[in-house]
Amino acid sequence: MKYISTRGNYKLLNASEVIKLGMVPEGGLFVPDSIPELSENEMFSKINDDYQKIASWILSYFLNDFTKDEIKKAVKKAYNKNNFPDELITPIVSFDKETHLMELWHGPTAAFKDIALQLMPYLLKLSVKKNQDNKEIVILVATSGDTGKAALEGFKDVEGIKIIVFYPEKGVSQVQKDQMLTTAGNNTEVIGVKGNFDDCQNAVKEVFRDKKLKNLLSKNGYKLSSANSINWGRLVPQIVYYFTGYFHLLHANKINEGEKINITVPTGNFGNILAGYYAYKMGLPVNKFICATNENKVLADFLKTGKYNINREFKKTISPSMDILISSNLERFLFEVTGHNSKKINKWYKNLKEKEVFRIDSNTLAEIQNLFVGKSASEKEVRNSIKDVYNSYGYLIDPHTGVGYSCLKAYKKESFDYTPTIIDSTANPYKFSKSVLEAIEGREVEEDYSQVIKKLNKLTGIEIHRGLEDIYNKKLKHKRKCEVKEVPLQIKEVLEIGGI
Ligand SMILES: *Cc1c(COP(=O)(O)O)cnc(C)c1O
Repeated sequence: MKYISTRGNYKLLNASEVIKLGMVPEGGLFVPDSIPELSENEMFSKINDDYQKIASWILSYFLNDFTKDEIKKAVKKAYNKNNFPDELITPIVSFDKETHLMELWHGPTAAFKDIALQLMPYLLKLSVKKNQDNKEIVILVATSGDTGKAALEGFKDVEGIKIIVFYPEKGVSQVQKDQMLTTAGNNTEVIGVKGNFDDCQNAVKEVFRDKKLKNLLSKNGYKLSSANSINWGRLVPQIVYYFTGYFHLLHANKINEGEKINITVPTGNFGNILAGYYAYKMGLPVNKFICATNENKVLADFLKTGKYNINREFKKTISPSMDILISSNLERFLFEVTGHNSKKINKWYKNLKEKEVFRIDSNTLAEIQNLFVGKSASEKEVRNSIKDVYNSYGYLIDPHTGVGYSCLKAYKKESFDYTPTIIDSTANPYKFSKSVLEAIEGREVEEDYSQVIKKLNKLTGIEIHRGLEDIYNKKLKHKRKCEVKEVPLQIKEVLEIGGI
């Protein structure tokens, strides 16, 4: 297997080169030139393996220029007891015969991004080594809240790597902000941007396209890479848990071997659901993907109509990690469903850039709709779901998972499709304590979040995630703020590059 660009504008590369680069320098994203297809025999021979073994097995298909031993060692370091105390890594809680919640938040920062970002630093270090690059890597991250902290934890104090995180100053929750701003490590920097997530993501993408700046960085011994899900190294570890999730359901006798399941994914940048799609392409039996969005429902509208239109109001919701209008990874998906048609991708993304909208052809739309359903949930529906789940099952879901739950409910009501479903639970409820408590109590909560976390714990008796227990006692370490257009300048300042 080799890697190609969605826009047909780059040479064939190995996995290590792709992970090192982050995104295609000329624009576009790296994708595998073909997706391995597993036989049923091979797939179901793995059902008794542990998470680490399954991860090594899946990863070795995609990391073409890594040795089996390198992969195994990296996996072992990433998915250890310290980082993921639950032995299953991504355990499943079943509400009833059809509804199975996959807890993806057992990592150190309480969001699903840990699963990829605990592994990725090892992959990146190996990638740099393989390509004999003596430059220091600078990881640029744009975050809607959760990627930032997960990336900081993954990369802090990793030798030969610096990490700079840009977040929308007013677009993340207080917990998310404090989690990031208290990060230790002598190679970390966190900067609040006066804009929304899309502004941050665009500014960072611009930097990747800025040849002059990249030359200047190169002269000073630096090379840029990305820890956002535009980087293949972020996506590939996420394919793994779709397989382990399916195997869990088999073990628990919730499904039979080969039986199709539905998968509901609270979606923002389309990374998590895309990883599920790759698992499907490899042979995982899936009936439908339910793409669950909050009130920023660009994707849900797109999946219904074929029109991707970002010319609309950007809404701030209680699921901030999904407050996104431009879902980067959709480009990878469209490349795949059009049979690798770069011409179409170039045309659509040119339209998106110039006119803030593109429309796909009816054949492609029909193909997508065979497998994908787009749904959106209002803030009220999300709050109701949090409350309902708590009252019915004594279980807390966070607002992002609440979006997934609400969308699944709506989908079942209209489709009468009762296929057993995995809902990705993408964050621990305590990460969004205020919204969760407000949903359960049906009123606004005034207190400081440190109080709110304790209150929620007292009310429910549900254990507080270890990563959130004492952030409010830690010192704020990062204080930088900037305008959107100052992002390149900030990078130069942080790296202490002259001529500013
Ligand atoms: C990032 C994030 C999402 C969205 O995932 P994508 O891969 O960007 O679609 C959903 N929920 C939470 C809690 C997240 O942190």
